[in-house]
Amino acid sequence: MTAHSTYADFYRQSIDHRDTFWSEQAKLIDWKTPPQQVCDYSNPPFAKWFVGGTTNLCHNAVDRHLATRASQAALVAISTETDTERSYSFAELHAEVQRMAAVLRSLGVKKGDRVLIYMPMIAEAAFAMLACVRIGALHSVVFGGFASGSLASRIEDAEPVAVVSADAGSRGGKVVPYKPLLDEAIALSKHKPAAVLMVNRGLAPMHLQPGRDHEWAPLREQHLHTVVPCEWVESTHPSYTLYTSGTTGKPKGVQRDTGGYTVALAASMKHIFDAKPGETYFATSDIGWVVGHSYIIYGPLIAGMTTIMYEGLPTRPDAGVWWSIVEKYRVTHMFSAPTAVRVLKKQDPAYLAQYNVKSLKALWLAGEPLDEPTAQWISDALQVPIIDNYWQTETGWPILTLANGVEKQTTRFGSPGKAMYGYGVKLIDEATGEELTGPNQKGVVAIEGPLPPGCMQTVWRDDARFVNTYWKSIPGRLIYSTFDWGIRDADGYHFILGRTDDVINVAGHRLGTREIEESIASHPNIAEVAVVGVADSLKGQVAMAFAVVRDSSGLTDDAARLKLEGEVMKQVDHQLGAVARPSRVYFVTVLPKTRSGKLLRRALQAVAERRDPGDLTTMEDPAALQQVKDLVG
Ligand code: ATP
Ligand code: MG
Repeated sequence: MTAHSTYADFYRQSIDHRDTFWSEQAKLIDWKTPPQQVCDYSNPPFAKWFVGGTTNLCHNAVDRHLATRASQAALVAISTETDTERSYSFAELHAEVQRMAAVLRSLGVKKGDRVLIYMPMIAEAAFAMLACVRIGALHSVVFGGFASGSLASRIEDAEPVAVVSADAGSRGGKVVPYKPLLDEAIALSKHKPAAVLMVNRGLAPMHLQPGRDHEWAPLREQHLHTVVPCEWVESTHPSYTLYTSGTTGKPKGVQRDTGGYTVALAASMKHIFDAKPGETYFATSDIGWVVGHSYIIYGPLIAGMTTIMYEGLPTRPDAGVWWSIVEKYRVTHMFSAPTAVRVLKKQDPAYLAQYNVKSLKALWLAGEPLDEPTAQWISDALQVPIIDNYWQTETGWPILTLANGVEKQTTRFGSPGKAMYGYGVKLIDEATGEELTGPNQKGVVAIEGPLPPGCMQTVWRDDARFVNTYWKSIPGRLIYSTFDWGIRDADGYHFILGRTDDVINVAGHRLGTREIEESIASHPNIAEVAVVGVADSLKGQVAMAFAVVRDSSGLTDDAARLKLEGEVMKQVDHQLGAVARPSRVYFVTVLPKTRSGKLLRRALQAVAERRDPGDLTTMEDPAALQQVKDLVG
């Protein structure tokens, strides 16, 4: 391929000369047998990448580095819950992964089987994921914070042969025993796993069921030196399944391939993160989410970096803890979420100033809209580039961001950036299905097939749901819908305006709740805000706002609250116009969120309309909805 002088050229190549582009990227990883065909799109919307090639994800993440960086730290597991730090070199990680793989095999796990991983953020969770893909088994990681109901439905859907878990997680110093939740989930599920492997951290007592349950430590001893070679699998062999966050409804089981995903991650480490072997990556997410899969475990390891796994809160022992880790490990790449930054924003900024964070090349944030005030605050505090990136569990890697490894580009606050190479991003008029090509036109963010390597292959065991959910929502054409709404400016920077079901209609005006939230959040005393559309007999819908204030010391009585509410309304009037003005601005101490920190607008709206909020199994704090109930009456 020719050298690319600009990102625009690079992007065009990826779309106009798709196969040439991706066959070049495929060289970034090791193949046992090289692919014969780059992309088979003969059965749209199902895309098969690197057909005929065989490879292994664990080989590319671990074994491949043994020749050059065996003694370099590969994984550092830090817990401020148990006050421990454990570091594993690539050679040690290689040994641990083989032990885990040997144990899983001894429990009957074979190629193609599913292994459900329900674990806290400890090193053994990473061993388990890598061990699965090493032997060609599929992992299905379920976020350790989920209770038995959510876990049971995922066990039923994935039908795992084995479950890997631990005695307990810990959150804010409080031990959360996992075993009783797991036992209850297995009891609830129609499918029963044959084996359960428990890591005993010594945090909570465990009752082991004879015949089914096993402890990791003694089995590990038996397999200290067992060699388990990587199983070379077809590029299209599934590597894992993972459920979406469940912000909008029943979670979807995203199924990912092996070859396409490995290439996509290797390419993203180079082009998007501008990462070099030996550098250090710290993603603050959880292995239960897609960011954890792609950028705590696989991406950094594929790139030969050291990756940091963190168990604990961003505010404990104090709000400087993350920055102390950055200083200590000279972290070059940090990845977090706007919700975490908003948590830190409520704390004393002095905590941040104590540490040297100059090693950071940038801070990447994803998962939900990054509002300008939050971006500005963290940018001022860290003095490093803040890079928003927009993607989904479904895609596995960013759809919109800046590819600083190709060409350095400036961040525009409020925008996650440009369409990434390989993604045929279009804005589509919801009603007509027509593509909107002009600048600043609002449309549904859609992606022309085939989705690039690394994106979902299908919904686990439900091809029809894959086609009908994602590819049939826009009239008259087969195109992937993100169900997000956005605009693109004349320079190709995109702005996400919210989810397509977050559009509200006030007296015939279509408004994005995101725009109203941005306006309210720019008030100096508002830390965080959620706006929902609430049914109104006169106007169809009205906007209703729930805001968390930064400093509540002045809000002691109704008069003070009304005064602040008035100020906020005036600000919206001024910035967006009176139609966007919320009918009420309620002040709460916490907003209802999913366990991944996303606003649960669906539940908020239901309660604001005095309806049943429905399925709340993915919700973080039930007390958050109670406050809303009390306020709206
Ligand atoms: P479900 O699909 O089950 O309802 P979910 O959409 O919350 O859950 P994820 O795949 O974790 O599950 O989240 C992807 C969504 O998060 C995107 O479609 C978008 O709405 C939002 N999002 C992610 N990153 C950004 C970002 N940088 N800016 C704006 N929105 C973002
Ligand atoms: Mg989604």
